[in-house]
Amino acid sequence: MQKHNFSAGPSILPSSVLEKASQSIINFNGLDLSLIEISHRSTDFVEVMETARSLALEHLGLQDKGYQSLFLHGGASMEFLRVAYNLLDKKAAYLNTGAWSTKAIKEAKLFGELVEVASSKDKNFNYIPTGYTVPDDADYFHCTSNNTIFGTQMQSFPKISMPLVCDMSSDIFSRQLDFSQFDLLYAGAQKNMGPAGTTLIVVKEEILGKVSRSVPSILDYKVHIGKESMFNTPAVFPVYVSMLTLQWLKDLGGIAEIEKRNNAKATLIYSEIDINPLFEGFVAKEKDRSKMNVTFTIKDSSLQETFDAMWKEAGISGLDGHRDVGGYRASMYNALPLASVEVLVEVMSELERNA
Ligand SMILES: *Cc1c(COP(=O)(O)O)cnc(C)c1O
Repeated sequence: MQKHNFSAGPSILPSSVLEKASQSIINFNGLDLSLIEISHRSTDFVEVMETARSLALEHLGLQDKGYQSLFLHGGASMEFLRVAYNLLDKKAAYLNTGAWSTKAIKEAKLFGELVEVASSKDKNFNYIPTGYTVPDDADYFHCTSNNTIFGTQMQSFPKISMPLVCDMSSDIFSRQLDFSQFDLLYAGAQKNMGPAGTTLIVVKEEILGKVSRSVPSILDYKVHIGKESMFNTPAVFPVYVSMLTLQWLKDLGGIAEIEKRNNAKATLIYSEIDINPLFEGFVAKEKDRSKMNVTFTIKDSSLQETFDAMWKEAGISGLDGHRDVGGYRASMYNALPLASVEVLVEVMSELERNA
């Protein structure tokens, strides 16, 4: 049975990518060897890494603008600390919009003074704070563009004088932005790019090398840049699959095209949530609603069991909400087709018709 995969992460990847990826495990590039049993220094793999790195910059419009891209280990959680290690000399400013921001703040506190410029914790992170000021003497400002768990998404980013750092794990490559406003962005692969095991980091080189502490090699972005993202053995398979996904996105028409498709999916499900009296969106303000992770609840909990049986019957998978929010979460990453959202919306309206 065809599944409709709304999983929050690890999450859906294009089926054409999965097919090529599985071939590479048996026979990569016609070498009669597996991708995962050859040297990462072989010309075949070096080309994979270089293609993945340059496609990432190309999609973001950041080629030849002083940026470098890296595919490193440790997940986005590693960047919570690696960012601070490399950039936090005295003071850093953070916007707290959810569980992932909170974790980033916890790690950065180990390295210097931390100013939380605003937080939406008072309302269980159901909105994006506005009207805050970032202290002029902060070494950098950190925010989370899309809050995977709560379903909020930042639409704009503050204009500031210090480096702007962003955790884009769950909405990278999903919408057009002026990416040159960011000085460092990072994203764990497993939401919108590939399997878990690698993280994309895009950094403007000029912001590095300014902290007074010494940085261990494996945590030093400059070392990784110097070694072209091959300081140690990279996560060869996750990087390869990420490369395939970035190529798939390019063949499709890039971020401009995928954004149109993502907008269509978001419009469809949010209009159902808004018109169907049985459901309620979790996010307080319409402008803060995420186009990647749609959080909603069912008002009458006695209908929950019926609804759960119905969507499972329709082949939908991964719709359960995060324990911090409850209810449901429809994660609609780039590879999720509109048809899957149509199936979900049909189940929601069928529940209303039967109720
Ligand atoms: C999933 C996620 C993370 C954590 O990623 P790991 O790769 O598991 O460390 C961090 N930030 C955001 C926004 C996420 O969605």
